[in-house]
Amino acid sequence: MAHQLPELPYGFDALEPYIDARTMEIHHGKHHAGYVKKLNAAIEGTEYENMDIEELIKGLSKVPDNIRTAVQNNGGGHYNHSIFWPIMGPDGGGEPSGDLASAISDTFGNFDKFKEEFSNAAATRFGSGWAWLVVDNSGNLKIMSTPNQDNPISQGLKPVMGIDVWEHAYYLKYQNKRAEYIENWWNVINWDAVAERYESLK
Ligand code: MN
Repeated sequence: MAHQLPELPYGFDALEPYIDARTMEIHHGKHHAGYVKKLNAAIEGTEYENMDIEELIKGLSKVPDNIRTAVQNNGGGHYNHSIFWPIMGPDGGGEPSGDLASAISDTFGNFDKFKEEFSNAAATRFGSGWAWLVVDNSGNLKIMSTPNQDNPISQGLKPVMGIDVWEHAYYLKYQNKRAEYIENWWNVINWDAVAERYESLK
């Protein structure tokens, strides 16, 4: 079955005032929908047509040359945004608890240092891309960023959480002030959802 745009798990205005409803509506209904549509067009009639999106992006290097760029950009776009929506929510913010909190403290010193390093990775990603918290092959947490719609899973890393720093994610409300968007984004993180991802990946 062709890939489908997942439903947003909350209303367009649920992340107000930090992320405005109009941005969410366009981001989900136009940008993410566009990635899904173009991904389906690229893999239609190929052996990749029915592959799970995670498996497809994980095995990107094995995808044939003639469709690899389309899968990387549009499949990556679909996969990235499918991770992004559920790790945000209307009652977000604060700090994680449990194993994730311990792992963050053990790795980065404390939550504030983690927040600073992650925000810095997001702010300094040149052009369009994402910043990520990932679990590496040794089970350790690591912060990184990727260009365009690339996902760390194509490098054998497991994405725990990520922030979209494409201008389409923030420009209507924040214009060129990416740092302000990043600072406000911490108020919409659904830490329970991030912790669940971490438990399933570590
Ligand atoms: Mn986006």
